[in-house]
Amino acid sequence: MGLLRPPGKVVGGKVLLDGQNLLDLSEDEWCEVRGSKVSMIFQEPMTSLNPLMRVGKQVAEAVKVHTDVNDEEATSQAERMLEAVGIPDARRRLRSYPHELSGGLRQRVMIAMAMALKPRLLIADEPTTALDITVQAQILRLMRNLASEDTSVLIISHDLGVIAQLCDYVYVMYAGRVVEQAPTAELFNHPAHPYTKGLLSAVTSLRDNSDTLATIPGNVPNLLYLPKGCSFSLRCACCEERCCKVVPELVEVGPSHVVRCLLEEGDSHA
Ligand code: SF4
Repeated sequence: MGLLRPPGKVVGGKVLLDGQNLLDLSEDEWCEVRGSKVSMIFQEPMTSLNPLMRVGKQVAEAVKVHTDVNDEEATSQAERMLEAVGIPDARRRLRSYPHELSGGLRQRVMIAMAMALKPRLLIADEPTTALDITVQAQILRLMRNLASEDTSVLIISHDLGVIAQLCDYVYVMYAGRVVEQAPTAELFNHPAHPYTKGLLSAVTSLRDNSDTLATIPGNVPNLLYLPKGCSFSLRCACCEERCCKVVPELVEVGPSHVVRCLLEEGDSHA
């Protein structure tokens, strides 16, 4: 994956799906990929569903765009998908409008729509943020089941609890760059980047007796005006002079564990 740099486009590298570089595709080829090979679940289902269309029609439409099935077959596939994601009384729900469903049911409709064509990759952007805690648990269980089938699930989340429960491998991003990547257990047990350590120490624990909540000082920099050198330098408690001059590279610190920090690169830039 290339780095995101202002004005917000991929400036290098490859985006590979089953060995195919998606950056080489034409607009028509992209239309083939969207929905059938790669699907996405957005953060807020109420704003992602069309409020004027019955949910059954929205799921059926996702099926029809990529297959030759007629209206009747698309609708019965939509019903099967609503059942598969645990929506009770799916036949009746096909005729509901989004505002008639709870947040959890709307998110299930989004998942049904995204999964209608069994994509190879499902991208889920904060899939449980808008949901209450019990519905969150149901949706997480559903996503885990999906990942155990033939679909890979890429979760984008600020919720470290969700990541710990669901993911096999984690990429920590800061200001558009990967700053650390590792298998989930390794990352949580042996975080190496100061930003990752800050995120983990900011998570409250019932075992903590402290009255003070740990925080990372400062704010994420404007991506148009990134500081020179390491983008985390303005907020990093371990910052050294060289950090404001040199952009760190990713360096290996353990099996499948990679970190972007000069402290891990040794003294080569001193
Ligand atoms: S390179 Fe320097 S500023 Fe950046 S994370 Fe490492 S120690 Fe902190």
